[in-house]
Amino acid sequence: MQTLSSRLGRLSESQTIAMARLSRELKAKGIDVINLSLGEPDFPTPTPIKEAAKKAIDEDFSHYTHVSGYLELRQAIAQKFKRDNNLHFDADQIVVSTGAKQSIANVVLSIINAGDEVILPAPYWVSYLDIVKLANGKAVFVNAEIENDFKVTANQLEKAITPQSKLMIFSSPCNPTGSVYTQKELEEIAEVFAAHPNIYIIADEIYEHINFIGEHHSMGTISSIKDRVITVNGLSKAFAMTGWRVGYMGASKEIAKACDKIQGQVTSGTCSIAQKAAYTAVLLDPSITYSMRDTFKKRRDRVLSLMKDIPGMKTNIPDGAFYIFPDITYYLGKSYEGKPIKNATDLCFYLLDKARVALVPGAAFGSDNYLRLSYSASEEVLVEALKRMKEALAQLK
Ligand code: PMP
Ligand code: GLU
Repeated sequence: MQTLSSRLGRLSESQTIAMARLSRELKAKGIDVINLSLGEPDFPTPTPIKEAAKKAIDEDFSHYTHVSGYLELRQAIAQKFKRDNNLHFDADQIVVSTGAKQSIANVVLSIINAGDEVILPAPYWVSYLDIVKLANGKAVFVNAEIENDFKVTANQLEKAITPQSKLMIFSSPCNPTGSVYTQKELEEIAEVFAAHPNIYIIADEIYEHINFIGEHHSMGTISSIKDRVITVNGLSKAFAMTGWRVGYMGASKEIAKACDKIQGQVTSGTCSIAQKAAYTAVLLDPSITYSMRDTFKKRRDRVLSLMKDIPGMKTNIPDGAFYIFPDITYYLGKSYEGKPIKNATDLCFYLLDKARVALVPGAAFGSDNYLRLSYSASEEVLVEALKRMKEALAQLK
């Protein structure tokens, strides 16, 4: 008898989470693994945010809130959207969720019927695909090339659109490539979607504040399509709050109401204490995030320069987020002690085994011949990781 649902059969385990689990297990066995798999800032949450949470506990802010988040928080997020992104939402167009991951799931479940097509520029963030599968949607991939800084073009997207297209999901700055779309590129893409009024767009801007070129642009400001853009953001990355589980989105009232309805049946809203912390975080001057951003940039430069010394690692220059996504085709077909490296997943496990460095295979992001390295670790650790990788890769013949 089959006990579990067919829905579950469609779903893969999150590869980012799986690699992090594996490296935790190895560490627990006393093996010295450097974990560069999970995308999670290694900084503490800023003090004013922690203080706000402590105060919320002391003041007994410990009851269910409005499902979409308590009103003052949604008003504060509306203010943040206006301040940082020139996006104009009322509080009833904002839904706060248990992480941006849930915000995306809420939207996809609100929009997608079985068989609807969802356009995913690849490389895409790992969970987009499985959330689409959970909703019974059909993913349509559009491959961005490393030569084009891993950005899809308007022309490519135009070709992918069919009468079944219902949604596109993309991130900028992008996980896993660090690419940042310019205003011009977003406008060109918007022009394509302006001619297709049934297609929604999720603009995932969770890495907004980890941007090394100082220019973040929001798709939702472009007037021809703005009513169909759902802007997702969250606290996890900019404020080093992955464990607090707060994400949010701004959208049309119709989409916000739909997400509230789903959330009301599934979680009743996110943690009240974390919401109070989020209130403080979104109203803080964004400059509080700058020192983390600058540290990420230094690490990026260090890793890129160390990677130049490793044969066959082809990369773009990531303008944001904290990942490097090298093309490792050079190593395919090589072997170690008779064991062939057939694909990037084999190489990833070889590096885990031999170099004790945990990365994530590109297949998790829809791009086979790549590996993702999260440089959210101290420079000292990164230098050691790159040294180990270089030595292990040199042993492949
Ligand atoms: N979107 C992107 C592109 C991400 O990398 C992540 C990873 N944290 C998320 C959304 C989800 O973030 P969270 O659920 O922690 O807010
Ligand atoms: N988003 C992070 C990553 O890509 C955290 C893991 C996850 O949420 O899947 O590694």
